[in-house]
Amino acid sequence: MGAFDDYKRQIVEAARQLVAKGYLMATGGNLSLRVAGRPAFAVTPSNYDYLLMQPDDVCVLDFDLKVLEGERKPSVESAMHGAIYQARADVNAVVHTHQVFASALALINAPIPALFDEQVRFLGRSVEIIPYAPSGTGFLKGNIVKCVKNHHNAYILQNHGALCFGEDLERAAHNVEILEKCAQAYLLALCTEREVSRIPLPVREIAFAKLRGDQKKAEKSGAAHD
Ligand SMILES: [Zn+2]
Repeated sequence: MGAFDDYKRQIVEAARQLVAKGYLMATGGNLSLRVAGRPAFAVTPSNYDYLLMQPDDVCVLDFDLKVLEGERKPSVESAMHGAIYQARADVNAVVHTHQVFASALALINAPIPALFDEQVRFLGRSVEIIPYAPSGTGFLKGNIVKCVKNHHNAYILQNHGALCFGEDLERAAHNVEILEKCAQAYLLALCTEREVSRIPLPVREIAFAKLRGDQKKAEKSGAAHD
């Protein structure tokens, strides 16, 4: 058994579940998982159908994007995944999707304010829009690294899709679901053209403090691996 087998299996399993739930389609999007205790991550291969994917198809790269394991071409967004792990010590899993409702907000440049307690508890104070740059470029990577310093766990990529983080893949995948539910509700609310109410500020801050508490714990347990 290889040192990365468990990471690869987790990626394949999470990808299948996200396809089954409709958040990932065919080959769109990508996901990755940090390798504990070393500067490396497992990431889905480029342009390969999730339903055909086997653990051996998953690539393992170091933070310089050197391939440590895997025969296939890694995702074109691998540099973005590596940069997120370097910028955010609390993040161990990254899921990028083209999920429909969050993508709709990506087209009207509408960040999601604090609408629900659960949203802030797991995604952050708001879901911000990361400015557009073409996929796989250093420009997009730069825009992302700048934005993720606000410690949120979900973002919308302008004219592109969504980006969700977690301390593990299960959490990141769950955050994808929370984001889509919020995006759908927010869009419907906007369509009424009535005022959209937000949760009270003190409640928002309490919920966000709980998220930050989780993140600090994840940072510490990551540091213990190094
Ligand atoms: Zn994409």
